[in-house]
Amino acid sequence: MRDDYGREIDYLRLSITDRCNLRCQYCLPEGCDWLPMERILTYEEIEQICTIGAGLGIRKVKLTGGEPLVRLGCADLVKRLCAIEGIEQVTLTTNGVLLAEYAEALRENGLTAVNVSLDTLDREKYTQITGRDRLPSVLKGIRAAKEAGLTVKLNAVLQRGVNQGEWAELLNFALSEGVVLRFIEMMPIGHGAEFQTVSNQWLQEQIAQRYGILTPDNMVHGNGPAVYYTMQNGGSVGFISAIHGRFCAQCNRVRLTATGFLKACLCYEDGADLREPLRRDDLLTAEQRMKSVMRKKPEQHCFERYQDITERHEMSKIGG
Ligand code: SAM
Repeated sequence: MRDDYGREIDYLRLSITDRCNLRCQYCLPEGCDWLPMERILTYEEIEQICTIGAGLGIRKVKLTGGEPLVRLGCADLVKRLCAIEGIEQVTLTTNGVLLAEYAEALRENGLTAVNVSLDTLDREKYTQITGRDRLPSVLKGIRAAKEAGLTVKLNAVLQRGVNQGEWAELLNFALSEGVVLRFIEMMPIGHGAEFQTVSNQWLQEQIAQRYGILTPDNMVHGNGPAVYYTMQNGGSVGFISAIHGRFCAQCNRVRLTATGFLKACLCYEDGADLREPLRRDDLLTAEQRMKSVMRKKPEQHCFERYQDITERHEMSKIGG
């Protein structure tokens, strides 16, 4: 369906857990607490919401978290969501730690693509950023996903003074693996507000200086706000510039938290609780609430005006 600004809303980012097996400083550092399991949607409830969403025009679903692969049965959920009439694509974003274990089953159950978060290729720095020494498992996961036939993209968040200088290593790794790397600007959401972002514009200049001019690539690579460029060597690189770019006019997404709260924009706390009507079997109210959130999606985010951001939850609680 279209929202009040005429945008087609067909993409649902669906958090299936607030839990994670990493402790990234800017996302879910040590000391965060977990939501009690009874507040988390069951797979049946998730299926119900996706069925309602499909009726309202949701066509693509991305599973996220927390870390979606830490929730048991994630691959089975993929199968159930793929079977819903109207849902055309189910994908997943993961830190990759458990990907080697599940890549084959995910693919068999209908998953088509994975985004893997990878901020550094330096094992020590990986441990510093994520709080866990799991880089080898992630690299294994990336290769397993490729072997299973999944489309793989890498997501890197650069932080000033931490991994800013590693863009070239990450890019070379992506090129050598034949996968696309996207650089995501750090958003001032949750713990992200405590860190300084690296501007994608600066990064584009660095890449152009080292690899030659970047040519805008208008081919559709995914469902999101990434802007892609072709490099002189034929490789592709993407940028998700939440702070220094404005992609709201093309935004097609809504987000469902693991507790069943539907949000239309990352910046604002507004949204609607879908779990409450579901748990009293009132599917009509759940549908009306969903429709209303989709229709009234804010025109723009406000990442550049920090005082206007009303979302105070951690990214792991919202579903990044
Ligand atoms: N665990 C999964 C993963 O790693 O893809 C899914 C959830 S994680 C929150 C999704 C993505 O959000 C990761 O790539 C992470 O780096 C990114 N992220 C978390 N906090 C962020 C922030 N404040 N700004 C930008 N990206 C952020």
